[in-house]
Amino acid sequence: MSKKITKRSDNYSDWYIDIITRAQLADYAPVKGCMVIRPNGYEIWEKMQSVLDGMFKETGHRNAYFPLLIPESFLKKEAEHVEGFAPECAVVTHGGGKKLSENLMIRPTSETIIWNMYSRWINSHRDLPLLINQWCNVMRWEMRTRLFLRTSEFLWQEGHTAHATKEEAVEETIRMLEVYKTFAEEYMAMPVVDGVKTESEKFPGAVDTYTIEAMMQDKKALQAGTSHFLGENFAKAFDVQFQDADGARKYVWATSWGVSTRLIGALIMCHSDDQGLILPPKLATKQVVIVPIWKGDAESGKVIECAHKIKEELKEKFRVHVDDRLQYKPGWKFNEWELQGIPLRIEIGPRDIENRVVVLARRDKREKLQVPIESISEEVGKLLQSIQNDLFTNAKDFREKNTFTVDQYSEFEEKVVENGFFHLHWCGKDLCEEKIKGKTKATIRCIPRDSAKESGKCIICGDNSPQRVLVSRAY
Ligand SMILES: [Zn+2]
Repeated sequence: MSKKITKRSDNYSDWYIDIITRAQLADYAPVKGCMVIRPNGYEIWEKMQSVLDGMFKETGHRNAYFPLLIPESFLKKEAEHVEGFAPECAVVTHGGGKKLSENLMIRPTSETIIWNMYSRWINSHRDLPLLINQWCNVMRWEMRTRLFLRTSEFLWQEGHTAHATKEEAVEETIRMLEVYKTFAEEYMAMPVVDGVKTESEKFPGAVDTYTIEAMMQDKKALQAGTSHFLGENFAKAFDVQFQDADGARKYVWATSWGVSTRLIGALIMCHSDDQGLILPPKLATKQVVIVPIWKGDAESGKVIECAHKIKEELKEKFRVHVDDRLQYKPGWKFNEWELQGIPLRIEIGPRDIENRVVVLARRDKREKLQVPIESISEEVGKLLQSIQNDLFTNAKDFREKNTFTVDQYSEFEEKVVENGFFHLHWCGKDLCEEKIKGKTKATIRCIPRDSAKESGKCIICGDNSPQRVLVSRAY
């Protein structure tokens, strides 16, 4: 416990990396740009996976697995797609000591191989919709990497669906965007703005890319998930047609959508503090840790026994752990579990047992509360709920305090130095979008879905704008 975590206010980037390394969430791999996800980090991912997987199945999707290697010729079939992904692909040229007749790409995303397979599986309108999700790793050769947020290899899920009509595909794109939004807000306690990307920021090969954007504690944006309406682009590239009920052959409509281990980075940056990680109760593998406190060996047996009794009572409703390790002092354990972000700590000593009380310490506010042992289950339930709610409310208040509606470019230029979300009028021209980025490093994150139609003047050129867009510097 020697090295302290850098303070957020001193250096936000160092603070972020310190939390990951000190809480043993991940480590740098021998290959530059790659990451080892350690058990403390991986169990957060497993929790996220299990919730999301349930939500995908609830909306009719099934899991499948496609190969890691994609023939180079597949990637070239969709012009925008290859242009976007080829520069960051890792390429396999040899196998078994021999040069391959065709190079194989390590998947940067799986649209091409999946649509190649869909061409075999889809023939009739009765084969549609086809709703498949895949949990896997992907590789994109990144130059500037940061643990969880940007690494060459990362874990994710990618949904790939095929539909008979445009309307159904658009509906699916929005449905999955809303699944992501619900997950971000209700489980991660992380408020997001959902909207559509501009032409220059959309997924290569998509007609429309929808996104959820969250504000981190340094007031920068983080893209937390995307859902793409792919139109007929991939069906045309891979010649996927179906015979409709009216007998006509038609191209299939497509969507794809994904979230990755980047969400763990988002979770850290959204809630944690100078003491370490803060996990929302719904995603904590351990929601409650019980730390028995004793002085002499004579007391230890009785206190540890009582701690386990409390665990027995709580474990039906909550995920509880007793830290009865003899080799560590209580103060050390408190720090350790605070670093790990465990939402609630229960402290119990000999005096507490006599008085039939325990102390509950919440991680987020670092407040302590004494409660009768008799009502412990009820109190734990109330507190976990309150932590989950407060994390969301605080993050939302923070975002609102740092969101500005600005009409004058000079004012925007002055404020953006301190970061934040900005609602600006934009005419829709690429050139004005580039100017914003070039001058301020801020980008148009999205055109928010709930933004009211409000006509105004583009903050760069003064031309007409139909509504405001969300602009921010981003990860
Ligand atoms: Zn303009």
